[in-house]
Amino acid sequence: MLKKPYIAARTNVLCVIGHPIEHSMSPIMHNAALKDLSLDYVYVAFNIPPNDLKKAVLGFKMFNIKGINVTIPYKENIIPYLDEIDPLAEKIGAVNTIKNKGKYLIGKNTDASGAKKALLDAGCEISGKKALILGAGGAAKAVSFAISEDLDALYIANRTEKRSIKLAKDLTNKTAIKAIGKNMSIDTLKNLVNEVDILINTTPLGMYPDIGESPISEEILHKDLFVFDIVYNPLETRLIKEASKIGCKTLGGLDMFVNQGALAFEWWTGKKPNLNLMKEKVVEFLGKK
Ligand code: NAP
Repeated sequence: MLKKPYIAARTNVLCVIGHPIEHSMSPIMHNAALKDLSLDYVYVAFNIPPNDLKKAVLGFKMFNIKGINVTIPYKENIIPYLDEIDPLAEKIGAVNTIKNKGKYLIGKNTDASGAKKALLDAGCEISGKKALILGAGGAAKAVSFAISEDLDALYIANRTEKRSIKLAKDLTNKTAIKAIGKNMSIDTLKNLVNEVDILINTTPLGMYPDIGESPISEEILHKDLFVFDIVYNPLETRLIKEASKIGCKTLGGLDMFVNQGALAFEWWTGKKPNLNLMKEKVVEFLGKK
């Protein structure tokens, strides 16, 4: 006799899509939580090449995939293919979680509240502070909208400057902050870092397998910064190691990752997952690599 939960013909399928996807810990985290609650679901990962996003979305409907997480680089491009997105995801302009209700796809953003909760839980004071966000992609949008209302000043620096300017304009139009978009040159970063209290990396620089990379040179950092790197694989990025070494308070991407995953899990299954278990499993897996 098979012991529950087992994968059978009626098992519900959940997935994450991205490109690349090998770094993703979502299958490890979600399958552990599903098993813990004996839910009849399985969670898998799909690497979707850039020109195949539309076909992938048709596939969600065709194969009755019940819930989908969206990661780099599709959080923004997925929006036109969805049937509905909730008001917060619409305001942010990025979706990281989709629910398939009988071939009707609804998008949400759980990164935003996941990031803010992680920062507050780590003791980072946001209210009245100045922040610099590196990157202007899907995750940058979620993080910037999550914290912008509380901040005193917000700078966004991105490799492609027109994207940071566009995001800053969007934030300025839709929230109480007057955000400023910049490039990511060393001189620009040097000036901005000196002005801010919080530095947040939302670029994939330093992410597995390129763990020797960092979005910002060590010499530019100063000890009074709170440094949040949303990359969670590896658990301690080069940026986090260098910032800790000079005495900065730091936060890696794991707590945000678990928070956003737990919100998605509850939306899909109607059950609250065990956050400690989810975190433990990711740490166990990454620790073994
Ligand atoms: P995305 O939408 O593709 O955006 C990527 C951003 O990084 C863009 O601003 C891009 O700049 C910049 N970038 C990419 N490669 C770069 C490079 N070589 N040098 C400088 N800038 C570079 O991706 P995303 O969905 O926002 O995800 C970004 C990262 O955050 C990924 O590592 C992802 O795993 C992580 N993440 C973590 C969590 C969590 O829960 N901890 C949640 C979401 C995302 P351009 O505009 O110039 O292309």
